[in-house]
Amino acid sequence: MRLLIVEDEERLAQSLRQGLAAEGHAVDLAPDGLQGLELALHEPYSAIVLDLMLPGLNGFKVCRELRLAGHSVPILMLTAKNGEYDEVEALDCGADDFLSKPFSYPVLTARLRALLRRGATARPPVLAVGALRIDPAARRCTVAERQVRLTAKEFAVLECLAGNPGEVISKSGILDTVWDSAFRGDVNIVEVYIAALRRKLDVPGAGCRIETVRGAGYRLVPDAP
Ligand code: CA
Repeated sequence: MRLLIVEDEERLAQSLRQGLAAEGHAVDLAPDGLQGLELALHEPYSAIVLDLMLPGLNGFKVCRELRLAGHSVPILMLTAKNGEYDEVEALDCGADDFLSKPFSYPVLTARLRALLRRGATARPPVLAVGALRIDPAARRCTVAERQVRLTAKEFAVLECLAGNPGEVISKSGILDTVWDSAFRGDVNIVEVYIAALRRKLDVPGAGCRIETVRGAGYRLVPDAP
């Protein structure tokens, strides 16, 4: 999942980024409300952690602007301790949940997981193509009921394809979903991950394959019956 953290406290932002990246998420940081809004409007995030007290534009305003622009990305707002009115206003301006500071990291990640599940209601909790099953919450991938070990990035690339089965997704579309905006390497890194996934999914009875659509991208398709 690709996440955005809008937080001006540098140490908190960095430690959240490290923790979430270690769980396989691609994480972008914005140190103020304006940069946060700009990124949120233009990048495909799965969820946003949005601090309330921010320089430039506060969290309420960022949240309201995003909703006015028609973005439904799940937002977890960080509010001050005992800020009951803040919490009410957070929900009123379109945040999906709030967490008051100081918070514990496991609570934040649990809230984020809950938001990501809710945000993904349009798709089933376990993605299935052929005999491939991907459980994003459990970070588990099986082919014909046998577990396939994937790296965090391989899992994210496969999840991106399996979440849109049969649809062609461009290399840059995959890159935008799986890598954070600090990535400055070659878009062809996606090919390396596709090659690794093909090797790992090349199991008898897999019933699906990753097709290359020349000049367009990749798609995950079930084998013809
Ligand atoms: Ca702050």
